[in-house]
Amino acid sequence: MNANLVIGVDLGGTKIAAGLIDRNGNVGERIEQRTVTTSQRALLDHLAAVVLSLPQEGIAAVGFGIPSRIDHEHGIALGAVNIPIHDVRFADEMEKRLGLPVAMENDASSAAFAESRLGAGRGVRDLVVLTLGTGVGGGVIAGGTLFRAHTELGHMVIVEDGEPCQGACSGRGHVEAYCSGRAADKLARELLGPTANAHDLVEQRHPVLASVGHHLGVAIGSLVNIFGPTRVVIGGGYGVAAFDQLLPEARLAVLTEALAPSGQDLSIVPAELGKDAGLIGAGLIAFEDLFREA
Ligand SMILES: [Zn+2]
Repeated sequence: MNANLVIGVDLGGTKIAAGLIDRNGNVGERIEQRTVTTSQRALLDHLAAVVLSLPQEGIAAVGFGIPSRIDHEHGIALGAVNIPIHDVRFADEMEKRLGLPVAMENDASSAAFAESRLGAGRGVRDLVVLTLGTGVGGGVIAGGTLFRAHTELGHMVIVEDGEPCQGACSGRGHVEAYCSGRAADKLARELLGPTANAHDLVEQRHPVLASVGHHLGVAIGSLVNIFGPTRVVIGGGYGVAAFDQLLPEARLAVLTEALAPSGQDLSIVPAELGKDAGLIGAGLIAFEDLFREA
């Protein structure tokens, strides 16, 4: 089948972004709407309506990046923290509603895939992308291929019995409890007053960001020891904004925690694709999964 155009969808806790994506990852017409979270059925119906509101001519498939762990073997979206998705045959449900082939991937993995193909991870065989937004997500490219198990890099333990994690997560000391935008909002309220947020910490170049950088570096050190990336890309609104202030302490921690010479050789860079990374990645994954050229 001659497929040159798909629709990529980035499903977030607060908004849905969808756009036309060509094989090179160029974004055409796009749309953004608030996420409907009243029920799973309402959410799936709304997602279909968003996709169908874009031009359908020449569209070969739809790729979804969703904030859920995904069981690819059985085609099931297992569960999400902030939206009503639970044990659902997500791709089947969307194919029924759209009449088009559907691919799905975790939203952070989708963004990581886009950065690896078109952004700050271009040409890197072994890559880790960490997205510091409301939560912390991540994706791994191993040997040039997206690692597609249901990983949750943001829920890696970096402090045993540490700070309680967020949302539906019952764990403690996870990366997300220290390095997410929401964790920074909490620090800002404690340090600067009840109306302050992460943005104020970054704007003031607040020294507490050094300790956040340390925690981030500890996480990166372990990821280097597990996956052996030669580059780590830091994305997400908060991650990119705070990048310069997190980096010095993060680097020091990586040198301590990662076995030599991986730490010394590692490059740590900010993401390049901005807020469209998720929908571009979801579109590229649809091409890869459904129309891979032999
Ligand atoms: Zn957690």
